[in-house]
Amino acid sequence: MRPELQSYTHVASGKVREIYEIDAGTLLLVASDRISAYDHILSPVIPDKGRILTAMSFFWFDVLGVPNHLAGGPTDERIPAEVVGRSMVVHRLPMVQVECVARGYLTGSGLLDYQATGSVCGVQLPSGLEEASRLPEPIFTPATKAAQGDHDENISFDRVVEQEGTARAERLRSTTLDIYRRGAELAAERGIILADTKFEFGIGQSGELVLADEVLTPDSSRYWEAATYRPGQVQPSFDKQIVRNWLTGPDSGWDRVADQPPPSLPDDVVERTRERYIEAYEWISQRSFDEWPGNE
Ligand code: ATP
Ligand code: MG
Repeated sequence: MRPELQSYTHVASGKVREIYEIDAGTLLLVASDRISAYDHILSPVIPDKGRILTAMSFFWFDVLGVPNHLAGGPTDERIPAEVVGRSMVVHRLPMVQVECVARGYLTGSGLLDYQATGSVCGVQLPSGLEEASRLPEPIFTPATKAAQGDHDENISFDRVVEQEGTARAERLRSTTLDIYRRGAELAAERGIILADTKFEFGIGQSGELVLADEVLTPDSSRYWEAATYRPGQVQPSFDKQIVRNWLTGPDSGWDRVADQPPPSLPDDVVERTRERYIEAYEWISQRSFDEWPGNE
């Protein structure tokens, strides 16, 4: 018999995930179907999104083969029936208070910093780079872990050294870049560009870094389709472009600048976005989403 979700203490809500305590050393991370765009949580939800992203995290934990926080598989018996497929049972770890971002391409806050200073998080870059330029080599661009509602703020490697000490800062950087390279390489074989991604690490029993949180999902990463990649312009998002196009197009009637809550997504936008997430998962993992648990 699987436990009831209510039998666990709810410890926190993120924008997308709910966190429960299984016991003092173990957490249940439950991914909802919520989707955000332009810093707003949208309605309605995208059915299956939480399961798809959970499937992707499990896939990546599997192929990356680095120490990670998983304390059980996708059908672990501690997972309540109603959230099987969207949940991870994980070792509760002290988390490193740095968002470990790797970038292989220049966009978003990285591009803004570069345009203002010629560097990103203290990493000097060559001149002449533009939106979506591929970087000469991937760079580590750490950020603060902002409190809920706040934006993460890019910080220099020196700040990480001050906060975490030299040895750990260097390990965070090299591990982040190693995992990014491996992820980007595998994605590239499937025709997908992994433009950037964010990892979170916990500290294991012997002080080692343990890959935690979600990994290489479209919520923590920018995925672009290689076939349509064109530097010099903002790239379509592999997963969210359908939603973004609708929100900013003539049909939504949404005034983004006025910062109103966005209108509800129409059914066909929801359905096409759901299919896009499934496509991303199946494309990258070469596994069928039909076989993922929780598909009752
Ligand atoms: P958001 O992602 O919406 O900006 P958030 O990161 O606070 O906010 P979620 O990503 O939904 O929220 O929740 C995951 C939380 O669990 C994060 O705070 C993350 O640092 C934490 N976490 C992930 N894995 C572990 C772990 N193994 N042990 C302890 N905490 C973890
Ligand atoms: Mg998070």
